[in-house]
Amino acid sequence: MEPRTEAYVDGAWQAGARRFPVHDPFDGSVVANVTDADDALIDQAVAAAARAFPAWAATPAIERGSLLGRMAERMLAAEAELAELCTRENGKPLKESIAEVRYAASFFHWFAGEAERIYGETIPASSAGQRLHVIRQPVGPCALITPWNFPYAMLTRKLGAALAAGCTTVTKPAEQTPLGALALAAIAHEVGVPAGVVNVVPALDGARAGNRLVSAPAIRKIGFTGSTEVGKLLLRGAADDLKRISLELGGNAPFVVLGDADIDAAVAGAMIAKFRNTGQSCVAANRFIVEQPVAAAFTEKLTAAIAKLAVGSGLVAGIDLGPVIDDEAARKCARLVSDATARGARILFGAAPTGTSRLVAPVVLGGVTPDMAIWREEIFGPIVAIRAAKDEADAIAQANDTDAGLVGYVFTRDGARQTRVAEALQVGMVGVNEGLVSTAQAPFGGIKQSGVGREGSRHGIDDYTHLKYIATRVG
Ligand code: ADP
Repeated sequence: MEPRTEAYVDGAWQAGARRFPVHDPFDGSVVANVTDADDALIDQAVAAAARAFPAWAATPAIERGSLLGRMAERMLAAEAELAELCTRENGKPLKESIAEVRYAASFFHWFAGEAERIYGETIPASSAGQRLHVIRQPVGPCALITPWNFPYAMLTRKLGAALAAGCTTVTKPAEQTPLGALALAAIAHEVGVPAGVVNVVPALDGARAGNRLVSAPAIRKIGFTGSTEVGKLLLRGAADDLKRISLELGGNAPFVVLGDADIDAAVAGAMIAKFRNTGQSCVAANRFIVEQPVAAAFTEKLTAAIAKLAVGSGLVAGIDLGPVIDDEAARKCARLVSDATARGARILFGAAPTGTSRLVAPVVLGGVTPDMAIWREEIFGPIVAIRAAKDEADAIAQANDTDAGLVGYVFTRDGARQTRVAEALQVGMVGVNEGLVSTAQAPFGGIKQSGVGREGSRHGIDDYTHLKYIATRVG
């Protein structure tokens, strides 16, 4: 698939005066040179979304849903090409890119169905002469800002909900991975989504373009996935115009293994929770908290599984871990390991990353303590940090000792402990004997500093609609 390289605005491909390169994280080669949308082009996209809004909002839900369904089918039909494009701009192994395309398409499929179920309410009135109705209406043109780690899925779970609800959209994809969003715009175009309903404006300077977009007066809602730092900036900005906003921000996921856990199941869950996308996921297991009696057995079995992982080009069959996204990410892995070892952690497997290569090999650290940066920051790399816990209460206390609250994992065979720990974890999502919680049918989102709002599930529509209550005097 030849990547689209122009911005998609008002139903047409628009080449800007300036372009920027998209690099393959494996070897740094240029995958494509993409239009760098300037402020004028971003304004055009917002104006197009505003013009298209009334007709799209008035389009019967079944028709909006049908277009979403066709976009899902088109994605699946093109999954091999879409997956290759994803591996080239993001670096993840092809098998993971295919899984991402399917996962991303599942949001279009899910919201295709939800479009028809945006129900209102009839409320019994206290006066005989009145009828009370509640309807849900689309909030308006939306700004969608997405990160580079899941270029398709982070967009479809916003775009699917927005389009189902009757909102129009302007997407600014991450500067590292704009090609996926442009490929989805091409699909929207092909299946006949009307001009102005979907717009995509790639830009090199994410802060400049993102600001221009979210502060445009016609934008009524912001959907963002990215860093907590940028999320806070956007929330402050949204306050000025009282715009609706939903934020999916960083996590610092605890992965709790209790003494009665099935260790093989815990290792299998850990491999997914830690190493998917080379650890570059907001739901990645960040802190392994293992009850003392099984700490040695868990570490040994986990290390044996990690030793089998192959690191290399995501385009090569059999590779499990692709490169990290850029040089800064490689340097961060090196910094976190050197900070941890300087403060007393031990390398139980692997070697300290040098920070000079984007191909970061896995490392297992034992004896980690809460003062270490690796325990407090999102690692976003293939590094395992393990700390022992005295008992269940200590494990819960350690797990909750963070500002983040996106997801937590707990492994235990005991049903009462499963319930107790799942309820005690201060997070928006919990995996119980499960290393992968993300799915279109369930509400994805965090508490504490991990965000506001939920994506996916029937609740995913809520952020793209407002309630309108209508009181009618009938006599
Ligand atoms: P990461 O650190 O994972 O790259 P960011 O939060 O920096 O996460 O980026 C997520 C998305 O937010 C990207 O599309 C990026 O271009 C965009 N972005 C970065 N800074 C800003 C900003 N100040 N305002 C709006 N969007 C921004």
